[in-house]
Amino acid sequence: MDELECVVVGAGVIGLAAARALAMAGHEVLVLDRAYTIGFETSSRNSEVIHSGIYYPVGSLKARSCVSGRRRLYTYCHERGIPHAQIGKLIVATSEAELAGLEKIAATARGNGIDNLEWLDGTQARRLEPAVHCIAALLSPSTGIIDSHALMLAYQGEAEAAGAIVVLRTPVLSGKAGAEGFELAIGGDDPATIRCRYLVNAAGLHAPALAQRIDGIPPETIPAAYFCRGVYFTLSGRVPFQRLIYPVPVAGGLGVHITLDLAGQARFGPDVEWIPAVDYSVDPARGEAFYAAVRTYWPGLRDGSLQPGYAGIRPKISGPADPAADFAVQGPEMHGVPGLVNLYGIESPGLTASLPLADEVVRKLHATRS
Ligand SMILES: Cc1cc2nc3c(=O)[nH]c(=O)nc-3n(C[C@H](O)[C@H](O)[C@H](O)COP(=O)(O)OP(=O)(O)OC[C@H]3O[C@@H](n4cnc5c(N)ncnc54)[C@H](O)[C@@H]3O)c2cc1C
Repeated sequence: MDELECVVVGAGVIGLAAARALAMAGHEVLVLDRAYTIGFETSSRNSEVIHSGIYYPVGSLKARSCVSGRRRLYTYCHERGIPHAQIGKLIVATSEAELAGLEKIAATARGNGIDNLEWLDGTQARRLEPAVHCIAALLSPSTGIIDSHALMLAYQGEAEAAGAIVVLRTPVLSGKAGAEGFELAIGGDDPATIRCRYLVNAAGLHAPALAQRIDGIPPETIPAAYFCRGVYFTLSGRVPFQRLIYPVPVAGGLGVHITLDLAGQARFGPDVEWIPAVDYSVDPARGEAFYAAVRTYWPGLRDGSLQPGYAGIRPKISGPADPAADFAVQGPEMHGVPGLVNLYGIESPGLTASLPLADEVVRKLHATRS
């Protein structure tokens, strides 16, 4: 049986970014994904926002990788012509009760080194966005939007140019970790057993389940997986906004916000629904709650104007009653298995943070295996 150097499981934005970084560092890389296309799961089912790094606890990996990832992503997109736009966003308080939440966000943002937020009163906010209703707002000029598929294609292209191979329709079923590397059972049209020295588990929602199927990974290091669905509704016609409009965040997510795509079309979402298993269906009945949520800050939303869109599922590793977990990029220092990196809980802002997270994977592999 031939031995490969690195196998990356998952061709989402994180697996592709890691494959690119590993291939560019001179490694032989094979990316395996069970879907028929890259980015089939979470990486195609999100808000496509380049986050500035406002919300995440100071010093967390989410905060650090978002702030540095955002800066690097703008440069990366600019240099490669990846469609994106730094349009900015308003986080709006619609009642006195929400002002404390807005102040807390401003303080966290300062702690994360974001010094360009502007505090606006309602009149100043309406000067920028006449249709918005709020009594105060935070303007985040560094927030933007991106074509996430173009980003993934760029990562894939650069990984392949550096010698990586991306194989689709190929699930990794199970594996065994030994002193010399890994043995992986792969399915698909040509089931086989392959060997590799380095293994990167970037299987997103399924990363904990995959880790459980690899003998030799201490089970106590594998977090429980929780699935938190967020559905989007789309608007026919145009919205009267130039910027993204976000409410003060809710437990589990950032609140039903208005994002714009690069064609100027609006989508609303994602809401928060904890579900027992991966299920991308969208219940049209959830639209009712969207009207109420959006009208708190955009009273002009007309009856009947929302259509069910799509659903994304947050790959959580903390449950609804727990404090929100940080990104977990586990190398051998954590689980004791040489040559292995598991990425767990890579929810938002994973798209924004993809370049630094990929570097973290390379660093952990280089640090722990000769
Ligand atoms: C609702 C929502 C909104 C979000 N909005 C934003 C945002 O605006 N900005 C931002 O920065 N981030 C956002 N995120 C986060 C971002 O989308 C994710 O962090 C990122 O897409 C995760 O990428 P991934 O590669 O880890 O996972 P995925 O994209 O899910 O990729 C994992 C891949 O692994 C494959 N796979 C799984 N199991 C196996 C197996 N056994 N064998 C082979 N292949 C396997 C799957 O087919 C899949 O392609 C959002 C997330 C959600 C859920």
